Amino acid sequence: MFLKPLNRVRKTLGFRLTAWYSGLFILSTLVLFATAYVLLSSSLERRDREALQLKLKEYAAEYQRGGMEATERKITFENGQAGKALFFVRVAGPDNKTLFVNTPKHWQDFDVAQLEKSSVSATPQWIHVPAREKDDDEDDVLEIASLRLPDGALLQVGTSTEKREDLLERFGNTFVGIMIPVVVIGLAGGSFLAFRALRPLHGLLKSLQSILATGNLEARVPVTDTGDELDELSMLFNGLLEKIGLLITGMQDSLDNVAHDLRTPMTRVRGIAEMALQAEGKGDLLREALVTCIEESDRILAMVNTLMDISEAETGAMQLKLDTVNVLALIEQVVELYRYVAEDKKIALSVSAPPELSLTADRNRMLQVLANLLDNAIKYTPSGGRVEIAASSDRYQVVITVTDTGIGIPPEDLAKIWDRLYRGDKSRSQRGLGLGLSLVKAIVQAHQGQVEVSNVIGQGAQFVLSLPVKTPA
Ligand code: ADP
Repeated sequence: MFLKPLNRVRKTLGFRLTAWYSGLFILSTLVLFATAYVLLSSSLERRDREALQLKLKEYAAEYQRGGMEATERKITFENGQAGKALFFVRVAGPDNKTLFVNTPKHWQDFDVAQLEKSSVSATPQWIHVPAREKDDDEDDVLEIASLRLPDGALLQVGTSTEKREDLLERFGNTFVGIMIPVVVIGLAGGSFLAFRALRPLHGLLKSLQSILATGNLEARVPVTDTGDELDELSMLFNGLLEKIGLLITGMQDSLDNVAHDLRTPMTRVRGIAEMALQAEGKGDLLREALVTCIEESDRILAMVNTLMDISEAETGAMQLKLDTVNVLALIEQVVELYRYVAEDKKIALSVSAPPELSLTADRNRMLQVLANLLDNAIKYTPSGGRVEIAASSDRYQVVITVTDTGIGIPPEDLAKIWDRLYRGDKSRSQRGLGLGLSLVKAIVQAHQGQVEVSNVIGQGAQFVLSLPVKTPA
């Protein structure tokens, strides 16, 4: 029952940061202590052993100088001097039988009798004699150094590890006392740092939650101006919201436009059908109405198809059938389609392109592009004008220009003419859907190319297509 919220907390970044920080802090303190403990313990041991070796040499010298008696005297004297003997001393014969032993009173617990049991030849340099009855709290031992004397006797000097153990125990207790505040500081410090580091992230989360809950894309994540990564994230996130907002507005606008532009022809179709029904019996009238209905339906169909083509090209879903296309042949194919319309309108059409010029492109889509540009050029050029299609190339791109001597494009319209369903004011009298240039731009961009427009009012417009010689597949 309590496990679920606990699991949730364990998964949070805050918990993990706190755990990592506190864990590392506590671990480093432990490592520091362990190192200090080992160093202290080994230096105390070295010190004790040096003292034992020194004493051993001193008694050995005395033994050699004055024999057993002199050594006994010296030890007894030192005992009397110190009041409390500092060392355990044992002298044994070559058969390891104790000849003399001096055990300080407070070390009587150690089982020194066992020293007689080991064979003399096997006596190691350092022997550790434990207490007879082992007390759980005390693990001191009698540490003994041995030295074989020239006459075969064995001299042993020892001291209890009691003081050393006491000191190390005190050190350990102090550490435990220090560790409690260290753990508390580690946990508190870890939580504080995690809280500080995650505060901007919480702001980001709150804003996201409010945006998701309200659907209000106007909301923005607060930026703290610290210039850190989280600030950058917030700014990027705000930029993303801005872009999404623009896209959604754009989509809503084009949806409105499409709905608006479809309504007119649909209403017209309905009106024609209704009128035809009211005028019962007259066959010719009915036929005429049906023809108009078909024309209007074709217009609607063309509009829907073009809109679908544009969004396919814009989203990258358009499948391009790439082929090597001769540019001059392509232009002439389009010009052939419009020759009669141009002649009818008394517009001179001219083509100039090097015959060997070719590029990799989707032939049908490029035909659509050129047809749209030529259609516009003829549509917006008054009778007696000229339209020229020219092509040239460098190593990387093919440039095709469509220039006319028509009405030109007002400067305020230059950016808008690429929008879906946009039609210039002066163009309303001409047939058209306002989709031609949107399709041109989408197809050219799908070929990794560019299209630009420029004009001098009163002298006509010029569209410039730049296409890569080899469109990447
Ligand atoms: P339309 O169906 O209206 O021709 P387009 O998308 O092809 O739609 O063109 C958008 C607008 O750009 C046109 O309504 C017209 O105002 C302007 N335009 C396009 N080509 C030319 C041109 N050659 N000369 C002048 N205006 C042009």
